Amino acid sequence: MTTEPLGTTRRRFLAGAGTAGALSLWPARAAAAVGRRVAVLGGGVSGLSAAQELAERGYAVTVYEYYDVLGGKARSMDVPGTGTGGRKPLPGEHGFRFFPGFYRNLPDTMRRIPFPGNANGVHDNLRSGTEALFAREAGRPDLHFPLRRLTTPPAPGDITLSWIRDQILSVLDLGTRLPAHEAAYFADRLLVHLTSCDARREDQWEKTSWWEFVRAEEMSEEYRTLLGIGQTRNLVATRAEVASTRTVGRVIIEALLLWGLLGRGMDGDADIDRVLNAPTSEAWIDPWAAHLRSLGVEFVLGTEVREVLYTGGRVTGVRVLDREGGAERTVTADHYVQAMPVEHARRTWGAALRAADPQLARCDALETDWMTGVQFYLRTPTPVVHGHINCLDSPWSVTGIGQAQFWDVRNFSEDYGDGRAHDCVSAIVSEWDKPGILYGRKARECTREEIVEECWAQLKDALNDSGKTTLTDADRLGWFMDPAVTGLGGPDPQNREPLLIHPTGTLYNRPSARTAVRNFFLAGDYIRTDVDLATMEGANESARRAVNALLDADGSGAERCRIWELYRPPELEPLKRVDEVRYRLGLPNTFDLG
Ligand SMILES: Cc1cc2nc3c(=O)[nH]c(=O)nc-3n(C[C@H](O)[C@H](O)[C@H](O)COP(=O)(O)OP(=O)(O)OC[C@H]3O[C@@H](n4cnc5c(N)ncnc54)[C@H](O)[C@@H]3O)c2cc1C
Repeated sequence: MTTEPLGTTRRRFLAGAGTAGALSLWPARAAAAVGRRVAVLGGGVSGLSAAQELAERGYAVTVYEYYDVLGGKARSMDVPGTGTGGRKPLPGEHGFRFFPGFYRNLPDTMRRIPFPGNANGVHDNLRSGTEALFAREAGRPDLHFPLRRLTTPPAPGDITLSWIRDQILSVLDLGTRLPAHEAAYFADRLLVHLTSCDARREDQWEKTSWWEFVRAEEMSEEYRTLLGIGQTRNLVATRAEVASTRTVGRVIIEALLLWGLLGRGMDGDADIDRVLNAPTSEAWIDPWAAHLRSLGVEFVLGTEVREVLYTGGRVTGVRVLDREGGAERTVTADHYVQAMPVEHARRTWGAALRAADPQLARCDALETDWMTGVQFYLRTPTPVVHGHINCLDSPWSVTGIGQAQFWDVRNFSEDYGDGRAHDCVSAIVSEWDKPGILYGRKARECTREEIVEECWAQLKDALNDSGKTTLTDADRLGWFMDPAVTGLGGPDPQNREPLLIHPTGTLYNRPSARTAVRNFFLAGDYIRTDVDLATMEGANESARRAVNALLDADGSGAERCRIWELYRPPELEPLKRVDEVRYRLGLPNTFDLG
């Protein structure tokens, strides 16, 4: 084992930071951090976000990443051996990427990543999806839900509870078979959440499952599918029966849907649904890595973090393994930002480090689950809908998107594969523990090929009805499934990249970015952030919090990272204040009739 300091050969100044975007920020952010070394452990969205903020403030940053590529779960990947005639290989991915309009932190970072021809960096590579398709099985008409902001939103101050209730009811009336009294009950429950004070949300609603909150058990199958499972398992991989009401209510129902439709608290004039205009790594991650290199960031790829070493109140180094050569060594820095997913990070914390900060041990209680992408390459352009597809009745909670329609800077067949594929329908399987429709088995019990056939069958079941055939077997050229899932069909299938889920009480176990160890900081989608949902936005927000904590610890005078929190409608604040009093007195929310 050898010990080496980080960044000894690194450029100390950012003379090469040759972009207008970076330079305009530089004077405000530069500080006396030049030469201070930071090891960022993990090269996903959180790690790269932290690296950018630190490098802009003059820190010498080295990122250690397990894989040979950057981007973590967000990266796209080549389908090996599929590119001919000068074309790139077919694009694969861990799962398709959705950048809701309510994200504010991540878009700010994206604006600061230069991209040729774009005034606002890679942010200009985002495109709006204008519809969501809630696809139904067995010939039921699908629900096309417009995802554009209201063209004439109510003026500030005009939003009343009865206006909100009417909007919810009119949406639920549209194309659903919900009994009127169930729709009314659901709308009233949303009013309860909307008017609940922060303390009630963090206590009562964080401990209550969404299933219980909306009384799904007592309602119709339609209610459970649409308003229970459709808003939880399909979107955030968490079962409705256990999902935290605070998380679902604040993020999915309020920030994403309600305030999204009203255009409140959005990233500029963003629509609710946005996607990139090319595979993620091409449109975002690769330009990001290039920009970070230009800021002096060093990347050490193919390197596994094994243990964070702790002695005498400080982290003294990190034991890493060179995955190719098999050699272990210890790397050192002044500060350490660990930006690895919780299931990997917690394995690297020894007893002494855990004892130094009890919130680390609480991370053992955080749960992850499987959410995995499958891409289907098709002979003909197959947009399906101008946005995302939610196969509401699919037992494996399949969602998807037709990608080529958004890749307006690419010609799919000319740019990828062997020229025969004209589109890619990218799907995600979010439920791995319910029997499928082809083999009657859970996804976890199937082989890779069986999972692909099931996913395809469930997509067809949802999309090939209402008098039209959207997907045909003859049109399907091939598929790709995330290689992070291994051992399928065997006794012990594994997934190296599961996703943090949000059962009740998760909030209490999420650690802060600032730890009790003065040179050790945490970033990642499991960190306690305002957005409170395992997303790229949460990963980015966590990195901002970690960097701010590091600047504090370092006594830095550099400008702190700005943090955007979820939108709070001013019209509802008085009602929340009333609820605060009621909550303190042990009374239920005014609208909570049980
Ligand atoms: C199928 C799927 C679809 C999703 N879709 C969306 C979406 O549309 N929109 C959205 O906002 N979010 C989405 N998410 C969530 C989002 O991808 C994650 O929340 C986010 O990417 C997490 O970023 P991170 O940096 O915290 O972790 P990661 O992306 O997991 O990055 C962590 C990095 O650490 C590395 N690492 C792990 N262990 C070690 C080790 N021992 N040593 C060194 N390096 C290590 C990993 O290789 C990885 O590169 C999706 C997630 C999944 C699973």
